[in-house]
Amino acid sequence: MAQDYDEARPDVAEASERTLKDVRKMDAPNAKSVQSDLEEADLSDGQELPGAIVLDELVVEIVPRADDEFICGECFTVRHRSQAARTVAGAIICRECDEL
Ligand SMILES: [Zn+2]
Repeated sequence: MAQDYDEARPDVAEASERTLKDVRKMDAPNAKSVQSDLEEADLSDGQELPGAIVLDELVVEIVPRADDEFICGECFTVRHRSQAARTVAGAIICRECDEL
């Protein structure tokens, strides 16, 4: 019976060593795959970038001002140049604000 224990212990030790080696072999590629997954995730984030949606929304509101348009210094509305009434301290005032 004692011999069974003596034989079993080295088997267990080898088995545990094999398990550790297997785990180490498993961990190395896993870590690389995780890194590549993170890099791929970063690339996909760069393409979709949830935060960019907010920027796009802000840009969409600001960019429509063309060369022939201006932002009224009082109501801050984008107006066509033909709607400009006067300039006050460098700020263009639209006709609606000038009439008020
Ligand atoms: Zn105005």
